[in-house]
Amino acid sequence: PAAYGNVTGSMSVMDFLGKDYRSVLGLPVINIPGCAPVGDNFTDAVQAILLFLQGLGPLPEFDELGRPAWQFSETVHRRCVRAGYYEEGTFAKEYGDPECLVEIGCWGPVVQCNITEKGAVAHMGGCMNAGGPCIGCTMPGFPDKFSPFYKSPPGSLFSSNASRVLGSIVRPLRRISQRERNREIRWHETVSSGWAMEKGDVSLTHKVLEFFYEAMQFQGAKRPERHRTEDKSSSGYQSLPERLYGKDYQVLPEQRGRKAEKRGEHTEGGEE
Ligand code: SF4
Ligand code: SF4
Repeated sequence: PAAYGNVTGSMSVMDFLGKDYRSVLGLPVINIPGCAPVGDNFTDAVQAILLFLQGLGPLPEFDELGRPAWQFSETVHRRCVRAGYYEEGTFAKEYGDPECLVEIGCWGPVVQCNITEKGAVAHMGGCMNAGGPCIGCTMPGFPDKFSPFYKSPPGSLFSSNASRVLGSIVRPLRRISQRERNREIRWHETVSSGWAMEKGDVSLTHKVLEFFYEAMQFQGAKRPERHRTEDKSSSGYQSLPERLYGKDYQVLPEQRGRKAEKRGEHTEGGEE
């Protein structure tokens, strides 16, 4: 209601009372901003003040605008559920898309708000959690300095395009690492699951990149493995699979037969 041109003359309590105002407790105005403010932020601030006044809690910290610093010092972007999309340079084109909303008008990177952690009501919902771009309602410049709503902020031209360029390199590399880490050590090409019987299609690029990736990953560290004699139990204990399948116990069943045949051993049913 305090937007330019409002006919009511409304303004914030701080503007109305002035910077020299002090309450009977000697406090200046405390602002819990928002349109409407998150109820939990209000009760949280009241609780912190009461605990302090009772000598049971530390002195609550407020910023230069009288906002509880523990609630409003971080931008909402830093803890947004969509921040990973921003970082990978993928952006929503229309409402309902799951990606970052900056190109359809989200001001989150410059807005101090905690709704993505606190939720709107009872720790649920909240703007970006529910698909709505941030229009800066906790900021003193709201609404005029964030209008027109739902138009991408000018600053995002630089930052989102920088993320897009970086993301176009990072995303495919991450997919390679992700695919590789979706494979168990004992099965790599063929997934041991009724959900995916097809043969894995691993490209040469994948193999080369993963080779160097693993070399860096295990540089100066021991690779996990269980065939080394010093790793065997000193008591001579062997797990059931180890007793049944010998040194091939970590190999997939369909591969044990082939391995045994190569060694010239007889296997029952050609499998084990
Ligand atoms: S939706 Fe907004 S707050 Fe969330 S990552 Fe994108 S720009 Fe940041
Ligand atoms: S995310 Fe933005 S629009 Fe939503 S409550 Fe916070 S400041 Fe207001």
